[in-house]
Amino acid sequence: MSASNIVKNIKLSWYPFTLELKHPFTISVNSRTTTPVVLVEIKYEGMIGYGEASLPPYLSETQESVQSFLSKIDLSVYDDITNLSSILSGIDKLSPGNNAAKASVDIALHDLVGKIKGIPVYQMYDIPKLEMSSSFTIGIDSPEILIQKLHEADKFKYIKVKLGSHNDKKIIETIRDHTSKPLFVDVNQGWNNREVALDFALWLKSKNVLLIEQPFIASNINDTRWLKERSPIPVIADEAVRRLSDLDKIKDAYSGINIKLMKSTGILEAFKMINRAREMNLNVMLGCMTETSCAISAAAQLSSLADWVDLDGNILIKNDRFCGVNSLNGNVIPNDLPGLGIQKII
Ligand code: MG
Repeated sequence: MSASNIVKNIKLSWYPFTLELKHPFTISVNSRTTTPVVLVEIKYEGMIGYGEASLPPYLSETQESVQSFLSKIDLSVYDDITNLSSILSGIDKLSPGNNAAKASVDIALHDLVGKIKGIPVYQMYDIPKLEMSSSFTIGIDSPEILIQKLHEADKFKYIKVKLGSHNDKKIIETIRDHTSKPLFVDVNQGWNNREVALDFALWLKSKNVLLIEQPFIASNINDTRWLKERSPIPVIADEAVRRLSDLDKIKDAYSGINIKLMKSTGILEAFKMINRAREMNLNVMLGCMTETSCAISAAAQLSSLADWVDLDGNILIKNDRFCGVNSLNGNVIPNDLPGLGIQKII
């Protein structure tokens, strides 16, 4: 332990903020125009580590619950600010759940420790730096808006389409009238009949769809396993997997998992999940919520370890508070600045 890293003059602070979306975003369970977040700062020795909790309303956390959790954290009790495992395991034990709140501190600490060490986070984990193609997500919408969004996604190699409405076939046909790009489909638990789902999966295969995300309700492991065993395209878990401890119960029912920092409690556990998923022969997607470039840049540090990258949350918002990694050209690559490689926009 370096004496200079002893944690005495350290200050954790936070403030709630509302992200405004460029377009209303509709999935099978709801529609929204804003996303609440809590932005976190950890100040230490003249440096600031930035973090973020993104709180889409279908998950259980709120700005109030995040702030209440953060108020329980006392970083001055830890001996070494660079010992992320020790600090994050202590924070995890403060109370169950609160995954996005925990992620906000994990992200801010990674940013800070990268700045202390003078290296980007991806180097802290010996992760290769590679440019990865991100998908661009299109919500459920009218044909006119779908077409407009396809134009916005012009530079992207992959399109992620939200399904689970009564118009699933029409949505795919509308998109196929305008582009032959490979598609991911995300059903957000919106299907409920496995035979119908299998027929549709066979049809989707003929439409160059590369994967189906979360076809059935997360608790329906049996029908998901049935579909996965017959589907010509991979079936990926999103709502069914949050943390490392969820992998054992879903590993036979899915072909892969969508890891998001807001579910995994941050970078450290997401890294462990990727490694465990590989041991289990599962594919890995790295996804996001609607987030600023803070949390997106955090996820981008891990992006070269994934099979598929879906990190477009920061380009769906009007009022980003950070600049860092962006996927405006359709690709994601961490930069070489220390920590997350971000700067706050004043
Ligand atoms: Mg999803």
